[in-house]
Amino acid sequence: MTAQRPMIAVLTGAGISTASGIPDYRGPRGVWRQDPTAERLVTIGPYLAEPEVRRRAWRMRLDIGAHAARPNAGHLALVELERGGLPVRVLTQNVDGLHQRSGLPAHKVLELHGTAAEVRCAGCGDRGGMAEALARVTAGEDDPACRACGGVLRPCTVMFGEPLDPTVIGQAEIIARACDVFLAIGSSLQVYPAAALPLIALKEGARLIVVNGEPTPYDALAAEVIREPIEEAVPALVRRLLAGE
Ligand code: ZN
Repeated sequence: MTAQRPMIAVLTGAGISTASGIPDYRGPRGVWRQDPTAERLVTIGPYLAEPEVRRRAWRMRLDIGAHAARPNAGHLALVELERGGLPVRVLTQNVDGLHQRSGLPAHKVLELHGTAAEVRCAGCGDRGGMAEALARVTAGEDDPACRACGGVLRPCTVMFGEPLDPTVIGQAEIIARACDVFLAIGSSLQVYPAAALPLIALKEGARLIVVNGEPTPYDALAAEVIREPIEEAVPALVRRLLAGE
């Protein structure tokens, strides 16, 4: 453990992106969980089996894609941490790509639930851009098929009913084990694997800091719990960490 340059692991959940206008879709109380009809559109079984579910899912993605979100002060502050010379790894439950768009190098961001920026074929695995797939929908294909094999195209996100990528989980656990400071930002810390990562870090002696609007199961174990809005709390916290506090 180096007192000079602590290694910082940052876990981010939906809360960091709501300030960018992205609703909490996936969380336990998120948009999709509240609406069983919507939940089917992002659940792998119905999605693969029912063309009508896919047609509705593509229309939903067009609606979501129409509101191009930008990184907010919370995302940007984390980039300052990295530019200030502190080793940083971001583990995110979000699929919106806002950490990368805020300027963090892609290799410093681990996307626990995949990315909504890409699609792949459920049959042959061929990958492509979400923007390109959405352009096909706009042009009139209501359920665009894989151009290589005719299979079902799906987002490169972890859909409900699917396991997370064990390689990604393994990498996240290694980062949690190695860090000196574990920041949990905008996550309820109630859903696996996010729920397991702070404990791994704590067992290795890391300092846990929780930034979340509502209580989490880890508040009692945290060195610090911050309830202020993320766009204000994270920049202030980053200034303190860069100052060596
Ligand atoms: Zn294919």
